[in-house]
Amino acid sequence: MSKTVKKFETEVQQLLDLVIHSLYSNRDIFLRELISNSSDAIDKVRFESHSNMAVLEGDPEFKIKLIPDKEAGTLTIRDNGVGMTAEEVERNIGTIAHSGTKAFLTNLKEQNVAEHPELIGQFGVGFYASFMVADRVILVTRRAGHDRDAGVRWESTGDGSYTIEACDKAGRGTEITLHLKEDLKEYLDEWRIRSIVKKYSDYVQYPVVMDVTRTEVPKGVNGEEIEGAGTIEKTEEETLNSMQAIWTRAKSEISEEEYVEFYKHISHDFDKPLKTIHYAAEGTSEFKALLYIPAHKPFDLFYPDRKRGVQLYVRRVFITDNCEHLVPEYLRFMKGVVDSSDLPLNVSREILQEDVQIKRIQKNLVGKVLSTLGEMKEKEPEEYCSFYQEFGPVLKEGVHFDYANRDKLQELLLFESTTTEAGAFVSLEEYTERMAEGQQEIYYITGTSRAALEQSPHLEIFRKKGYEVLFLTDPVDEWVVQGLTEYAGKKLKAADRGDVSLASDEEKKEQEAKQEEAAKQYGALLQFINGKLADRIKEVRLSNRLTDSACCLVADEYGMNANMERILRAMNQ
Ligand code: ADP
Ligand code: MG
Repeated sequence: MSKTVKKFETEVQQLLDLVIHSLYSNRDIFLRELISNSSDAIDKVRFESHSNMAVLEGDPEFKIKLIPDKEAGTLTIRDNGVGMTAEEVERNIGTIAHSGTKAFLTNLKEQNVAEHPELIGQFGVGFYASFMVADRVILVTRRAGHDRDAGVRWESTGDGSYTIEACDKAGRGTEITLHLKEDLKEYLDEWRIRSIVKKYSDYVQYPVVMDVTRTEVPKGVNGEEIEGAGTIEKTEEETLNSMQAIWTRAKSEISEEEYVEFYKHISHDFDKPLKTIHYAAEGTSEFKALLYIPAHKPFDLFYPDRKRGVQLYVRRVFITDNCEHLVPEYLRFMKGVVDSSDLPLNVSREILQEDVQIKRIQKNLVGKVLSTLGEMKEKEPEEYCSFYQEFGPVLKEGVHFDYANRDKLQELLLFESTTTEAGAFVSLEEYTERMAEGQQEIYYITGTSRAALEQSPHLEIFRKKGYEVLFLTDPVDEWVVQGLTEYAGKKLKAADRGDVSLASDEEKKEQEAKQEEAAKQYGALLQFINGKLADRIKEVRLSNRLTDSACCLVADEYGMNANMERILRAMNQ
């Protein structure tokens, strides 16, 4: 491969511009991003080596080396991880792989990024964070197990294009050299580097090392100073991080800040998590879990190719960050780590899908998350509301899909209603507790927005009787009410269906009498309208449900309601 100059994808350049011009509030994180990439790359080669020792090329001592060079003004990050082929460099570094990113960038442009740098943190700038501190970046890499002349050299100044060419590289893995910006040479300082590594990358599983030179006064065999001996310089490779996997430590020994930093490390989120769940499961399934509920929804929550948030480890060895069955889809917003003691290290993707252990772990995780949410709802209602506003629509999918946990899930639901103010919620429990006298059923109405529903003529009679009606405005609510037909022995009924009966026995008799009379009076008219509208509606009938409006459309008890029809139409059904 001869040296070629290539242009970045438009989106990559946009991202680079954002990184370079808007995201300097916390430049230190560039090192965390690069160390975390190196650590991921070592995870990968370690995993591959379980089935193919040859990829280690006789070098099983995994490490990440930081090499500051004051004369050259460069900081190099070198790893003996899996490395990349030329094709992989192009794919991973020159383009943006996740389709959601494009939508995210478009979204960003509409907001003022300079004022809200945290927005970009939701996305995680990864490798491109290098350009926050460097005006020239050189990446040299070679895929583990390939020949030494299969190396690749990539270089860019971050302004539109990069070059890529073949090169020789003796050791496997990746070496990234940052030519630091003139005013940022502080990142070459030993103590600066130490403190950044300690703060952001302490729990990285592999040693992050650096050559450290100390001047010493030579000492005699008994430690006594030798007169006139002068000083000597001694250089040693020192490990800067403790490498303690945070989830294996006792809760009482972990500070709030450590939990938060670890969250940021695995989630790429700039914000603190809303909730941290750290526990050890014992019994049929033994594992440790450190899980987080983010404070805000990520931009790709509804994209099918989004990354999964819970990583699987086996006895502290990273296995995968893409285990579908670890947490169900409706908890896909969870981030964290699960470390199992039961699974074999060489577990494959296929085995993971079938494994009963994984199913047990999932069951346990779901139980824990749901009970934590339940507790939050009881004890920290404001936090829970904020969680619900972000992730409610996802959680609700569970009512439809997770039959076994429906009882727990229904307690976690919140709705706006004719009684709540906009933005405030009522739970089903509260609803049933405050039901009006004589009210037998739980009423709801579905639609696209609260404002639209408030105008509905269907609500007139409910208002008159003082019955609360839930507003169901999420598209997923249609599935919720299909899954949830009853709560605490009370049926859930759509307020716009034909079969709601709101009258007491006495009222019913009175109404029947009235209706008979009206039928006599209006019989001919009804027949006429029915005839006119025959191919559009099922029937026209007299109603008691309206108090102010002249007429309204109702769905039949077993027919589809108007909102469901709208949704299906939107989906081209
Ligand atoms: P992310 O880590 O979230 O995937 P990054 O921008 O940090 O995003 O990295 C993009 C991709 O580049 C990585 O997924 C990985 O495939 C590749 N990559 C980055 N750094 C390294 C490295 N040190 N060794 C091997 N591959 C790397
Ligand atoms: Mg990364």
